[in-house]
Amino acid sequence: MANVLVFGHQNPDNDAIMSAVVLSQLLNQVEYAGNTYEACALGQLPAESAKLLADAGIAEPRVIESVEAGQLVVLTDHNESAQSVAGLKDATVFGVVDHHRIGDFETAGPLHYICLPWGSSCTIVTKLAGVLGVELSDVQAKLLLSAMMTDTLMLKSPTTTDVDRAVAKLGEQVGVDPVKFGMEVFLTRPSGSFTAAEMVGNDIKMFEPAGKKLLIGQYETVDKSRALGMIDEIREAMRAYAAEKGADGIVLCITDIMEEGSQVLLEGETEAAQKGLGIADEHDGVWMPGVLSRKKQVAAPIMAAC
Ligand code: MN
Ligand code: MN
Repeated sequence: MANVLVFGHQNPDNDAIMSAVVLSQLLNQVEYAGNTYEACALGQLPAESAKLLADAGIAEPRVIESVEAGQLVVLTDHNESAQSVAGLKDATVFGVVDHHRIGDFETAGPLHYICLPWGSSCTIVTKLAGVLGVELSDVQAKLLLSAMMTDTLMLKSPTTTDVDRAVAKLGEQVGVDPVKFGMEVFLTRPSGSFTAAEMVGNDIKMFEPAGKKLLIGQYETVDKSRALGMIDEIREAMRAYAAEKGADGIVLCITDIMEEGSQVLLEGETEAAQKGLGIADEHDGVWMPGVLSRKKQVAAPIMAAC
């Protein structure tokens, strides 16, 4: 019997947190493989996750920065080492529950690996409850629903599938309107008062197109006008963040969920991004209508272009 650490990616979003929290609860409920499972987080919780857990009376996952050699881990909402915990290469990956592209993933032995291109990792966890023979409690259903809604931007993102729309009906079980509930959760995030550094760094991931280190960040808001009035400050924060992480280039998507598109800013070496997205490095950024999903509409074409 071992204690298995369950965690989502660095700069965690609501899906990274809730997938780890609820999946570890479900695995403990069925004493899966005779282990215990502990939810952790690779960074400070987003405001909406902290509030949802506090309201539910659930302790916040322990924040960790590294793992010991041989530690058993379950990765949720990611698989790429550049987005994961320090020490991952010497840890033992017991499982992965994810909905992203597979990056540099390799293990020595067989493992549980579940990757489905659905709208959220929490959609997969919802279905896993059935596989494990566990009925979700109302609290678990609500936490999973919250992350499915924030990850799919209230079912508007092109990453949304019929499975997500069916799972949205979980709202009925907990007596809420899924889209309204998702919007409430989204709005507990104080994004309207984010500093330039928070817009850049709160939700950002490292990619390596053509051997270059490229950061791709996303700032989701219901009103992009405030950010558009801070372009010089945001660009400075982008340069500072890239320098701190040793990245060659950085992309920031200022995603307006009401206008359903993203203003895309580029800094540093971004040839792959310019080619993949078909845009130039304009000082004020380039408005890309319909672009809501980093993984599907930003990272994927950039990675495919090189
Ligand atoms: Mn995520
Ligand atoms: Mn996700």
